[in-house]
This record gives sequence, structure tokens and C-alpha cells, in this order.
Amino acid sequence: MGIKVVKFGGSSLADANQFKKVASIIKSDEKRRFVVPSAPGKRFSDDIKVTDMLYKCCELAGSGVDFTNDFQMIKDRYNGIIADLGIDMSLDEEFDAIVKELKARPSKDFAASRGEYLNGKVLAKYLGFNFVDAADVIVFDTNGNLLLDETVKAVREKTNGLDNAVIPGFYGRTTEGYIKTFSRGGSDVTGSIIANAVRAEIYENWTDVSGFLVADPRIVERPDVISVITYRELRELAYMGASVLHEDAIFPVRSAGIPINIRNTNAPEDDGTMIVSNDHDFSDEDVKHTITGIAGKKGFSTINIEKAMMNNETGFGMKVLKVLYDNGLSFEHMPSGIDTMSITLSTEKLAPVREKVLAELRKTVEPDHLEVEDGIAILAVVGRRMKNTRGTVARIFAAMAHARINVKLIDQGSSELNVIIGVSEHELPTAISKIYDMFINSEKID
Ligand code: ASP
Repeated sequence: MGIKVVKFGGSSLADANQFKKVASIIKSDEKRRFVVPSAPGKRFSDDIKVTDMLYKCCELAGSGVDFTNDFQMIKDRYNGIIADLGIDMSLDEEFDAIVKELKARPSKDFAASRGEYLNGKVLAKYLGFNFVDAADVIVFDTNGNLLLDETVKAVREKTNGLDNAVIPGFYGRTTEGYIKTFSRGGSDVTGSIIANAVRAEIYENWTDVSGFLVADPRIVERPDVISVITYRELRELAYMGASVLHEDAIFPVRSAGIPINIRNTNAPEDDGTMIVSNDHDFSDEDVKHTITGIAGKKGFSTINIEKAMMNNETGFGMKVLKVLYDNGLSFEHMPSGIDTMSITLSTEKLAPVREKVLAELRKTVEPDHLEVEDGIAILAVVGRRMKNTRGTVARIFAAMAHARINVKLIDQGSSELNVIIGVSEHELPTAISKIYDMFINSEKID
């Protein structure tokens, strides 16, 4: 029988009621044998995540300030969950040990990791599952880099012969013995590593949304959920700010050919989004539309350079890029014509060196005209099926023309996985919703 590794995010384990949902999801499928929990997250929008409360306690401890009251709030969260679940357990010894350690050595990573550790203890008890401490299986080097091979070996050793286990997310231990966490949201990474190590058939990542949405729900009302997305498409969309999953959670499963399924703890009947290496494994029925997703990002500027006969001047591009390089700037896009070149880059990163860069460009390439245009948004239309579908770009432009939106730049990578367009920032929401209409709503009617 195959194994499913299931990771539950903080909102899925924020209170006893959520714990009950989680338990019924796990118990409904006996393949769900290895469980990776986050720390209790927010129960309502103004609530504070346990991880943040722990960081605060550590900060207070570090400055020698009494943190009894703040730590009491953490105790109350766990004790409340334990009482409401009606389980017979006490975390008092654990609480005392944490306070003692924070007073002796206020390490941020240690403090933050206790959120997952304690939640893992409670969940294991509630489910009747084994508890495997992540500190014993997730191995980091002394610089805090994950040692994947060592980790996989340790996970296999510790889980060998176990029917099930709860392994807390977010942290591990360095080879020197210190607790170390991943960056925020890192329980996703733990789940992915465990899935790799136990050779899971799938990594289910349970959260509070039913998967990746085709577009931002603040812009498009009730957008469709993406049913199947490839890792490459996901990267394009995530880069544009559409995020549900920690970036580092991709590699361990991708390299092992394990799909990720994003699922909703509050709507377990929804299929969610399946993230796969390639879509060969999926039938055409799963493929609903020409495009997979649309995402946009504000905050860009374009440096427009004009010079007659630019195309004849050997090394022109190199000189321009050298100026950027010398000033520590990376760029996003560089569409060019015979006598023009424009470079799109982050306004924020350009700001501190803006005048210097312009002066150096004037000096090194002697342009006829040089200007910077701010307030640009970049929009990516992403889809693996664009490659085999004619007229995609025409449809994007038709949507823009009907909405009277001026397209300031266009870029299509040779992989034909995405089309990037630049528009004025204030037109970004309209641009996204028009493209959504063009590709999703109209294809539904067809
Ligand atoms: N609890 C940690 C955080 O809030 C890690 C996680 O939830 O994945 O960032």
C-alpha cells in the first residue's frame, strides 16, 4: 500500500475544532501515515500565531525582561486545545523546560521551533500516533543548510517499522546539536522532505484554501481553482507573488517525482490543486483552459535607451548591462528594437543608485535619449498549453485593446510557458480581470 505524507498548516490546527477536522481527514484514509503539523496559527484575523508569540518571548528573554505573561498566553493556547479535545495529557514539564532554556540561552530558532514541537505532541496523542522529534531526523550543517542525504537516512531509520508518526514541521538540528528552523512557513519544507524519505506516492499539503487560484481573488471574483499545475508553471506564478507553498518545498518532492496536492482542511471534499512534474500523467479532462494562471506584480521601472544605429554598435548591450552589474542591479526583462533598448527592473532596487546609473549610462553608451518610466506593473500569463495553441498572444492583446489598456512591454520566453506584459500599475487589476474573462470565462461558454 502506498504512503501519503500529510502536512497541516497553522490555520488547520489553530484550535480543537480544527484538530477534529484534521483527525477525521487522517483517519479517513489509512495511507495517511506520516503527519507533519505546523504550530497553532490564527483563529481569527487579529489573532496571534503561536510562532510569533514564541519569537516575542525569546526577544524578551534576550533582553532580560520577564516573559511570564507572554508565555502564559502560549500555555493557554495549548491547554485550551487539550481541554477541548478531552485528552489526558499535560505539557507542564515541556513548558518548564522551554522557559528554563529560554532564560539560559535565548535562541530564536529554539524558541520558534517549540510551536511545532508542542503541537506535534498534542496531535500525536490525539491521533494515537507515534511522535518522532524533527530534531532527530532533519539535519542541518553548521551554517544552517539542510543536509538532505543525512536527513533522508535519519528519517528512514527512525520511521522504519512504524505504522505511523507525527513529525513536527519547521525545524531540525545542526550537526553541532543546535535547534535550527527553516524560514517562515517552513513546515511545508519538512513535509516535502519526509515525503521524499518515506517514498510517498503523494505529498498532501492541507491549508485553508482549496488550491491555487487562476487569479488573485481580490481582483477576480471567485476565480477558478487550478486543478493541475506543473512545477515550472508554479515557479512562474509564485515569482509573481501568487504564494501558497514555501519555495523550498518543491525540490525534495520534485526530485523524487512525487506530486504535491494542495488541499483545504475546511473543505476536504474539494480536490484542490495537483502539482506535478509534467502533465503527461493527467488526462485531457483535467486540462480545462488554454492558460493555467495569471499573476501580476507592481513596483517596476523601465530604463528606456534610444540611440541611432544601436544595432551596429558591437558591445552596446554589454556596456549597458555592465553599468547595471557595477551597481548591483539585476533586471527582469530587456525587450529591444534596432535603435532602442528598455530594461525593466525593480523601482525599489533602482532608487538608491538611480542618478548614478543614469550618469554612467550617459557616459558609457552616449544615448540620444535616456529616460526612466516608473509605475509599471508586470503581468504574467502562464500556461503549458500555450505552446500548442495558436492565437494566445492575439487574444491577450485583444483583451487589452478592448479595455483600452496600453501594453508597454511584451516578452515571451522561448519555452512558451508564459507571456509577460507590462502595463501601468493602475491598470493592472483591469488587465488581469480582462485576461481572465478572455481565457477562463469565455472558454467556459464555448
Ligand atoms: N510556524 C511557522 C511559521 O509560522 C512555520 C510554519 O507554519 O510552516 O512560520
